[in-house]
Amino acid sequence: MKIVHTVEEMQAIRRTLSGSIGFVPTMGALHNGHIALIKQARNENDIVIVSVFVNPTQFLKGEDLEKYPKKIESDSKICELCKVDYLFMPQTPTMYSNDEVLVKAPNLKSYTLEGERRPGHFDGVLQVVLKLFNLVRPSNAYFGKKDAQQLVLIQQMVRNFFLPITVIACDIVRESDGLALSSRNVYLSEEQRKEALAISKSLRSAAEHIGAKMLDCQTLKIQMQNIMKNLDIEYIAFVNREFQEIDTIILGNSIILIAVKVGSTRLIDNIWI
Ligand code: AMP
Repeated sequence: MKIVHTVEEMQAIRRTLSGSIGFVPTMGALHNGHIALIKQARNENDIVIVSVFVNPTQFLKGEDLEKYPKKIESDSKICELCKVDYLFMPQTPTMYSNDEVLVKAPNLKSYTLEGERRPGHFDGVLQVVLKLFNLVRPSNAYFGKKDAQQLVLIQQMVRNFFLPITVIACDIVRESDGLALSSRNVYLSEEQRKEALAISKSLRSAAEHIGAKMLDCQTLKIQMQNIMKNLDIEYIAFVNREFQEIDTIILGNSIILIAVKVGSTRLIDNIWI
């Protein structure tokens, strides 16, 4: 595995590559969720490129940019073990200059839910993903359903800019007790981690009720609120795959999303129905 530090080096390497290229963009502190994406990329492509870049433009003022977990050594080890070919770990100055051309996420999808709480967040996400796509020029790019709104926006960017890339949506990886894996889970105390289990529990319960033909979103929401009554709920939302709000679950075209705060840690989770 080769570690690549600069944009110029990445571009030079890319010019030498042929065959299918699978790309997994991450912010590092790799866990089994990331590893599942990398393994899928490894299975489906000739060459695998992973990026680790904590992108400043997607963090709002006051968010955890400075304290976002950094684990360069273990990230490299994990990528090596997963037989990644190139690990791209650029520094911010090689990725950005001053006063750049910006990318603007579409209003309808990006100023609701995550975008409402984190205005401008998705502009930064799309900006960095477009840069990374142009550097890596992947055949297939792997994203987790964990960040559902991000995934849907990236799929739209690929369509809108006619990018010759297939976006592959990967299932959410969970701990055995249900907690969705996240780099931010390290912020949780043991007690908070236990409390956070109510998030996945409420999603499982909703799925069971939907299985029993209870499709009314308001009723489902009340039950979920009840399960998460000890948590600071930011939102419970019911949307279709276009991220439009729905009142009734449509099987095969619904996502239930949750954002909560456990102490000062913000956690998101969701289920695709
Ligand atoms: P991040 O490093 O948090 O930016 O995540 C990089 C990629 O990994 C994104 O596409 C995420 O959606 C995905 N990801 C993060 N956590 C999980 C998880 N628990 N299961 C599946 N994919 C995940």
